[in-house]
Amino acid sequence: MSAKIIDGKAIAENLRNTIAAEVADIAARTGAQPGLAVVLVGNDPASEVYVGSKARQTVAVGMRSFEHRLPADVPEAELLALVARLNADDAVDGILVQLPLPAHINTDRVIEAIDPAKDVDGFHPVNAGRLLIGLPTLVACTPLGSLLLLQSVHQDFSGLSAVVVGRSNIVGKPVAQLLLQHNATVTIAHSRTRDLPAVVRAADIVVAAVGRPELVRGEWIKSGATVIDVGINRLPQEPGAAKGRLVGDVAFDEAVKVAGAITPVPGGVGPMTIACLLRNTLQAFRARRFGE
Ligand code: NDP
Repeated sequence: MSAKIIDGKAIAENLRNTIAAEVADIAARTGAQPGLAVVLVGNDPASEVYVGSKARQTVAVGMRSFEHRLPADVPEAELLALVARLNADDAVDGILVQLPLPAHINTDRVIEAIDPAKDVDGFHPVNAGRLLIGLPTLVACTPLGSLLLLQSVHQDFSGLSAVVVGRSNIVGKPVAQLLLQHNATVTIAHSRTRDLPAVVRAADIVVAAVGRPELVRGEWIKSGATVIDVGINRLPQEPGAAKGRLVGDVAFDEAVKVAGAITPVPGGVGPMTIACLLRNTLQAFRARRFGE
């Protein structure tokens, strides 16, 4: 038996199409257009790629994209001043400051400077807190994308046990909150968990957000479980190859034989992240301009 492959690329494309249709409809009725500002500090190559595709996809769904590039040595005060200007700019509905920031900048201070109503990354403590207590909020994009992929398999998580491996503020914790909100019985595992294979084996839903290539083995997976692999790890380059292979936190070739459904890497959670960023921008726009 082989697991159903959860096609993140196709699900993300559907989501982008739905967003584009809504944006076009709003523009036709009101003339208003959502705007997303992305701030990039320095020129980290991976961040450059993300920011480039965010801008392209923003424009492709009919939104305005504002890109702000600052040098790697920009003083923190200057970045905070830019965030303040974006907070005050009515054309800007969403603000995303690309992480990681250079070491001389206090990331928490920058995130807390963003107006929570424009915090489309969902990292502001106000939004993280609202998620925790179950209030409507802007939910971090990768966790939200993971939830939507799970919902493509399960109508309802009632009675299902879920294990989230990883407890970061940007992935593990918000994923666990979303699963809990949708009635799964949730365990959060991390580097201090004893007997991780046994913990994973008990789960109907496994979300791996660890950052360790192929840590979760096929033999850890309960037969028929749904596996969401958030990890993106580049393996060392092999002789003759242009780049190292991209793998997740789950040993896909093993897990696909045991799981009921599984996301591939690439093509699983990755494409959902930007689609959810656009979804959040539309949500922030509706809330700010129409009070929805
Ligand atoms: P972090 O490094 O912030 O967190 C990793 C978590 O994994 C920590 O909670 C850590 O535990 C836990 N962990 C580390 N080693 C082990 C281990 N051996 N056993 C059990 N738990 C362990 O990573 P992120 O959450 O930021 O990212 C996780 C992965 O997701 C990465 O591969 C990243 O590239 C990817 N990612 C993908 C995105 C996408 O768009 N698809 C977006 C964001 C991230 P502890 O807290 O105890 O240290």
